[in-house]
Amino acid sequence: MSQYARSTVAVAAGRPPAEPGAPVNTPIAASVTFHQGAEQNYLRQSGSDSLRAFQEALGELEGGRALAFSSGMAAIAAVVEGLPAGSTVVVPRMTYSGTSSIHDHQERLGRLEVRRVEISDTAAVLEALRREPAPALLWIETPTNPMVGVADVPALAEAAHAVGATVVVDSTWNSPLLLRPLEHGADVVMHSVTKYLSGHSDLLMGALVTGPDDDERFAAFKLRRDLTGGLPGMLETFLALRGIRTLAVRMERAQANAGVLAQRLAAHPAVERVLYPGLPDDPGHDLVARLHDGPGAMLSFLVAGGAPAADRVCAAVRLVTNATSLGGVETLVERRAQYAVDAANGTPDNLLRLSVGIEDVQDLWADLSRALG
Ligand SMILES: *Cc1c(COP(=O)(O)O)cnc(C)c1O
Repeated sequence: MSQYARSTVAVAAGRPPAEPGAPVNTPIAASVTFHQGAEQNYLRQSGSDSLRAFQEALGELEGGRALAFSSGMAAIAAVVEGLPAGSTVVVPRMTYSGTSSIHDHQERLGRLEVRRVEISDTAAVLEALRREPAPALLWIETPTNPMVGVADVPALAEAAHAVGATVVVDSTWNSPLLLRPLEHGADVVMHSVTKYLSGHSDLLMGALVTGPDDDERFAAFKLRRDLTGGLPGMLETFLALRGIRTLAVRMERAQANAGVLAQRLAAHPAVERVLYPGLPDDPGHDLVARLHDGPGAMLSFLVAGGAPAADRVCAAVRLVTNATSLGGVETLVERRAQYAVDAANGTPDNLLRLSVGIEDVQDLWADLSRALG
């Protein structure tokens, strides 16, 4: 499907063979066991048509081979817990709270040595990579949660490979439409499918994507999934693939809305600062312009008046929903420093993270500007 635009691939990939009378969509294969005599015999191990269809579509979109997991965290665990005991890892200081927590936990168990760096500070990451002992893994999240820092994936991947480290990119905020990390030297792409790929805040799912010829890593992750039973349900898999069909139009609209809201928030007297790489003076602007196909639909902003003022905005919105998570059709806002992990990572007290949805942007602005007072 490489001749097609990504928006076309999102619609066309992972379909059943075009035969007279065959279904156009892969049906939900609700069976755990299968008649013997073929490779497919038990769902946890051999998967099913629903799973294969989803994985084929995501693999085509990322330019690699995808494995679906029961959640983003299950996919992260397959990587992190699969490392040999005693390995050193370099991870972002500012990152999704679950990613921070699993590394903290592995450190407490005495399994991993963890070096935490600001991933958008290329020089700091290179320094952390070059220290002894050589790290086994570089974990990149870009843009970062919730400071929206942008990582220079090709520069970091090159430096990581020079010391023998595997490079994983949590590309949840981008979706394959805005960034294809494998094209920039990453070894593995991780997605919380819960977010943009499925797109409706109604299911939990995750995925890992390896390079097209990387049999070794693919087999290692598949083994972790088999052994831990971290497979998604088939209804979730079906719904996630249905979500992918509309990914391009959802992302286009959400991103356009985010651009408008970022500009208006930046000009609002109750807002101290907007963090969004789509704004020309944002520190991530040039990198996003060079590596990404768009700045995305996630932004953060600092509310004048500290945490109480930020909490008042969350309490005052009516159309926008005060809830965690992101990447759905509905706009969500939350104050991240309410979570201990985020506060400990240095998230400003007055930071609101906004996952911009696909509503009419004038309605969104009317709601936000009224809530800001
Ligand atoms: C939500 C999220 C995860 C975790 O995924 P789940 O599906 O909730 O387990 C990981 N990384 C990022 C960037 C996320 O937003």
